[in-house]
Amino acid sequence: MSLFIRVCPICGNHIPQRTPVCPKCFQRIKSESLYLSFLNTCNRCGMPLLAKEFSCPRCRDKEDLENTCFSQSFSQYEGLIKRVIKHYKFQGDRTLHILFCDLFELMLEKYKQESYTLVPVPCSLSSYKRRGWDQMKVISDEMKRRGYPVFEAISRENRDIELKKMAKSERDETIDGLYYLDKKEVSRPSQSLLIIIDDVITTGTTLRYIRDMLYSVYGGQIIGMSIVMD
Ligand SMILES: [Zn+2]
Ligand SMILES: [Zn+2]
Repeated sequence: MSLFIRVCPICGNHIPQRTPVCPKCFQRIKSESLYLSFLNTCNRCGMPLLAKEFSCPRCRDKEDLENTCFSQSFSQYEGLIKRVIKHYKFQGDRTLHILFCDLFELMLEKYKQESYTLVPVPCSLSSYKRRGWDQMKVISDEMKRRGYPVFEAISRENRDIELKKMAKSERDETIDGLYYLDKKEVSRPSQSLLIIIDDVITTGTTLRYIRDMLYSVYGGQIIGMSIVMD
């Protein structure tokens, strides 16, 4: 019998096994999920909608609708999940990657009839230096361990920028060349759908850039998926 006792990072209760959070908190995280609560989604951007005929709040005010990348997020960046992500990224509680993989698995349920490959977005150099590990690499390694196909095609330059604070035109200019394909010699995975995975999607600039880059080399259908959208 294992004597290992872990404390739930959310409520502080003891967890008898090696689980990332207690069952109660896991249920609360699921109950706060937009993805699980709304069955309808915007065809264009993937935003969960109360009903199919509702106009999408995310697409309503967008200038470049044509360029939108379809993406799905488990939750908005608020409530419990926000606390958990902060705990993971800023307090360095690596064991929480198990929880994020569980959430990705819940989302991937929808695609179980399709063949797909996951493409993780690498973190910035400053995050890597601060933390000593890449939060998406830890997640994608665990997904690989669980048997999901992962294609680590994307690398990131050593420039440190914060796209979120920039105007759109500045973002587009800054992101140019920031990410690149470092495995061009590797042919496209045979799976038809490429799913770009990231922990947080904010402006969508990174997602669109990587989508376009992957498309220019591999073609086919490419979508995004994240734990939260901010
Ligand atoms: Zn708990
Ligand atoms: Zn939309």
